[in-house]
Amino acid sequence: MTGLYANVIIDISHESVDKTFQYRVPEKLRGTLKVGQQVYIPFGAGSRRRKGYVVELTDEPEYDVAKLKEIEGIVEHSVTAQSQLIWLAWWMKERYGSTMNQALKTVLPVKQKIKEAPKRQIRLIGEKEAFREAVDLAERRGYKARLRLFCLLKEKNPVPYDQAMNRLNLTPAVLKPLEEAGLIRVEIVEKYRNPLLEMKRLLTGETGRASAMDFSESSPIPVLNEEQQAAAYRICREYDRGIRATYLLHGITGSGKTEVYMELIRHVVEKKKQVILLIPEISLTWQTVMRFYKRFGNRVSLLHSRMSPGERYDQYERARTGDIDIMIGPRSALFAPFERLGLIIIDEEHENAYQSELSPRYDARETAKERARINQASLILGSATPSLESYTKAVLGEYILLKLTRRAKASAALPQAEIVDLREELKAGNRSIFSRRLKELMEDRLKKGEQTMLFINRRGYANFVSCRSCGEAIRCPHCDVTLTLHKDGRLMCHYCGHTVMQPKLCPSCGSAYIAPFGTGTQKIEEMAVKMFPQARILRMDLDTTSKKGGHQEILSAFARGEADILIGTQMIVKGHDFPDVTLVGIVAADISLYASDYRAAERTFQLLTQAVGRAGRGSKAGEAVIQTYMPEHYSIQTAAKQDYDAFYEQEILYRELMGYPPVDEMLGIYLSGKDLEKLESCAEQLAEWIRNAHVEGLCLIGPADAALARKNDSYRKVIYMKHEKKIILLKIKKLLEQQIAGTDNWNDIFIQFDYNPLQAY
Ligand code: ADP
Ligand code: ZN
Ligand code: ZN
Repeated sequence: MTGLYANVIIDISHESVDKTFQYRVPEKLRGTLKVGQQVYIPFGAGSRRRKGYVVELTDEPEYDVAKLKEIEGIVEHSVTAQSQLIWLAWWMKERYGSTMNQALKTVLPVKQKIKEAPKRQIRLIGEKEAFREAVDLAERRGYKARLRLFCLLKEKNPVPYDQAMNRLNLTPAVLKPLEEAGLIRVEIVEKYRNPLLEMKRLLTGETGRASAMDFSESSPIPVLNEEQQAAAYRICREYDRGIRATYLLHGITGSGKTEVYMELIRHVVEKKKQVILLIPEISLTWQTVMRFYKRFGNRVSLLHSRMSPGERYDQYERARTGDIDIMIGPRSALFAPFERLGLIIIDEEHENAYQSELSPRYDARETAKERARINQASLILGSATPSLESYTKAVLGEYILLKLTRRAKASAALPQAEIVDLREELKAGNRSIFSRRLKELMEDRLKKGEQTMLFINRRGYANFVSCRSCGEAIRCPHCDVTLTLHKDGRLMCHYCGHTVMQPKLCPSCGSAYIAPFGTGTQKIEEMAVKMFPQARILRMDLDTTSKKGGHQEILSAFARGEADILIGTQMIVKGHDFPDVTLVGIVAADISLYASDYRAAERTFQLLTQAVGRAGRGSKAGEAVIQTYMPEHYSIQTAAKQDYDAFYEQEILYRELMGYPPVDEMLGIYLSGKDLEKLESCAEQLAEWIRNAHVEGLCLIGPADAALARKNDSYRKVIYMKHEKKIILLKIKKLLEQQIAGTDNWNDIFIQFDYNPLQAY
């Protein structure tokens, strides 16, 4: 491709970023012009000169070539954050397979509201001497309007623009010569909403109760221990020498990674650079976010999906104008338009949330690496349980590995974890969901007034209703899943929200013997209430947290000691610091092992390690009980010992044996459509194209039904390809995209590509 034509967007903050205009690239710019560059173009009927961004270069004209206008030139020094983000969008489109429009919408903020006219103010900026001279002059010459303004400015500087103009009856002509003389300045005052201040108000003010997070008292900054210091020192030293690298900070739960991040941020901000901190999910990590706010104050902001479009837009503007230095948020915060980006930190880097489920299905860690490269920033990945991908890269020397091996607080130690074999419980006649050991320890904690967390994996143990006669479970009519039973007797689909009352008779065979099956959080709560009637119990799951701030209320109440036991799903294990929790019970540890994908063991290890790691974070020692039907499994054994290295050794062996990522690269192709027959023939066609490419060493699996074979009345198929080299998979993907584009009957088939998929489709 020589890049004969360029697609250009004019207004990137507009809702229709998809509106591109095509221009001819003049010969002198061919080869030099790049995606993301700002160019001068003739626009509209009068061909007025305007600025635009190149979003795509192509050799295929979309219009009549004779009518295309020509690009006039490249705007000098135009490497703005926005042009870098446009380049990043282009990179994402190429890598993850989406349209440029989808990619642009992912990286650029959309202006959804017309902003009100900006507020202005008049500020006196001249020296005292100059001001006195100006007053003298005005008095001598009888410039009354000027004198009125000077009088006001003497009292108050700056003054609101509208107020001054109206009250003093001034015209812009009065201001102009003063501005030109450098005596005053008319400034725009932008008032941005500050989401952290609002949250602070919510946490401290409205409830009237003392919050778990006390804002009045500033907690002292802890002195970093040796390991923390070594990690921070190395990164800072290399940063100062101009070395930009990717670091994997592998620190056990409670080892003080967050404190290391804060030290790094302080260092980088001091160097006048900006920082992006990604966290998996904001509603679960308010505690962490507030620690940053306490340390860095108004220089921090955040971005998340529960903010209104206006609020989000404001935060983008604050980032763009340099009003803040630190942006915190889930994966989309990666696109904060910082011009002086120096550091990107990804906390809990192993979390699935860093992989987008929307097209482009980008991996925030890979994309962060690309953004870091463009911006000459360093990248830090932090976790107690790094993903196999990242750890392997660290082992191979591609990332620099830094370890924190001890809990940060001198008093805190890693909890002792015991594994309980549930088969033995049953043999001993215990049919309760609490093993004898767990029950004993819970009683002990209640007596001592210490807190307990009970954890259950939501997926796979959902409560469903099945027929004892024919064995059929009640399923969602729109999705290929069983409906989940709620306490109020309703059955609900977690994918599409479809809700029905529990039927009295089996819809398949008419039998009256239908009954709930399985154990969910509600069930555990009921059992716990029965077993420990005196205990104060809180439950946290999708049902109790659906309203805004629901998470925070429950977590804060627990942190304030208003409950003895907190029961919950994955949500409760993520990154919370509850110093009074001394017991963690994992009610059923196996569930995630049964999941039908190659990451099952990894996910189980991560969940258990994080869950066990919640205990004993304060001054009292912690214990954990892991209940399981698979006590021998290495993911459970190693999680109980919090031994990442032992887990990694076993797991990487399995991946090598099976040719799974990160050993081989894998590309998932997901197809969905309402017409099953057509979907099947398209999937078969795709497989045929792949086979016909005759790629050596390529392993093709499928087409097959997706794990969720039907969702919202659409059928779903998957094809997987494995190959040693990612570049080969990328080439096949390109080839397939061209083939699809050249065939007409694909229009109602929806296709997505997913690299090294985290979750079964
Ligand atoms: P992580 O992010 O690794 O889970 P945190 O940074 O949250 O760990 O630290 C866990 C706890 O230890 C927090 O309460 C934190 O304030 C405390 N802490 C961290 N570093 C130190 C230190 N050097 N000295 C004392 N306490 C520390
Ligand atoms: Zn039946
Ligand atoms: Zn459904």
